[in-house]
Amino acid sequence: MQYRQVPKNGEQLSALGFGAMRLATKRLSIDEERATRQIRDAIDHGINYIDTAVPYHGGESERFLGRALRDGYREKVKLATKLPPWSVKTREDMDRILDIQLKKLQTDHIDYYLLHSLEASQWKRLIELDVLEFLDSAKAAGKIRNAGFSFHGDRKTFKTIIDAYDWVFCQIQYNFLDETNQAGTEGLRYAASKNIAVMIMEPLRGGMLAGKLPDDVKQIYRDAGTKRSAAAWALLWVWNHPEVTVVLSGMNDENHIAENIKTCEGALPGSMTADDLTTMEKVAATYRKLIRVGCTGCAYCMPCPFGVNIPQCFTMYNDYHMGSNRMMVRGFYGMQLMGGMGTPADASLCRNCGKCVKACPQKIAIPDELKKVRRTLGGLSTKLMVPLVRLMFSPKVKE
Ligand code: SF4
Ligand code: SF4
Repeated sequence: MQYRQVPKNGEQLSALGFGAMRLATKRLSIDEERATRQIRDAIDHGINYIDTAVPYHGGESERFLGRALRDGYREKVKLATKLPPWSVKTREDMDRILDIQLKKLQTDHIDYYLLHSLEASQWKRLIELDVLEFLDSAKAAGKIRNAGFSFHGDRKTFKTIIDAYDWVFCQIQYNFLDETNQAGTEGLRYAASKNIAVMIMEPLRGGMLAGKLPDDVKQIYRDAGTKRSAAAWALLWVWNHPEVTVVLSGMNDENHIAENIKTCEGALPGSMTADDLTTMEKVAATYRKLIRVGCTGCAYCMPCPFGVNIPQCFTMYNDYHMGSNRMMVRGFYGMQLMGGMGTPADASLCRNCGKCVKACPQKIAIPDELKKVRRTLGGLSTKLMVPLVRLMFSPKVKE
């Protein structure tokens, strides 16, 4: 296994982390026996970073990990979980939720504790509720060892958050199609320049970069000098960045786990050849041809006075047309933009005021494109998913 160092505490973390958000399931519940075997096997092969969160598997992922890491496995790993901002209404809620998490995870401390899925509005709210004092006191009490945050907002907000606290680590969405989306390459480098470890989520964009590939992409991989799976290409591309510490993969298949561990071993920073990088540029360019709205995620159009999260709407709309799992995109649209995790920010809030159009360097007809987003993603099937999403992101954290 390859290990990378966390700059501020010197810990050596496996460059491949086990994400506990897509565990093996049986009859809609976690397959306890199989998922436990997979996690323990991954740890036996050197993985030492496990990431979970309150909403994963309807609140059961943390509880499952508490059991899966018995028999000495807890001591072999660094455990990461997250404070769910949508469940926090008061400063006291933060302590209460952390205590519940410790109990569910059957541990007396969380090694890496994150504020979950920050963007501008949740960050502002948490700051008003004194979240930084909470992190300080949880560290002083020994309940958490290292503080960080995961992020799904715009780059400007990312930098603001990075500069606001002595973070040990952060977690961003990053892959060869998200270089300019959310934190992007600029955010990755900014965090690393401040000695902040960067954990990567969605290296395969929810499976899109390794699942059913467009024919032209398949051909580019076939023509490449080196033969690898699409997942290996995409993961290698992320690991090739020296600023990356851990790449999280939500694994539930024995063959994929074995392949990812093997790929990780040789995936040192800067190890991709010039030919490899050319292959990746061709693949990225081919995917980009499928993009419907040429939004770069710069967020110059933000904030919208009526609350639309414009770049996020376009990211999801593009994902929908680029081969992502459409059910999943609808779920995310419902979750992030229709109020599942905070203030609603979906395309239907647009009042056509025109403010954003003047600010957009790409000259995108934003209100017109938002109408298409609304028609595509805001339909009945998404609306039917919203109660389910609300249940997943319930303000109540169950013991
Ligand atoms: S045109 Fe629509 S999206 Fe743009 S700023 Fe106005 S309300 Fe917001
Ligand atoms: S200003 Fe234009 S390119 Fe930038 S995020 Fe907004 S819509 Fe996208």
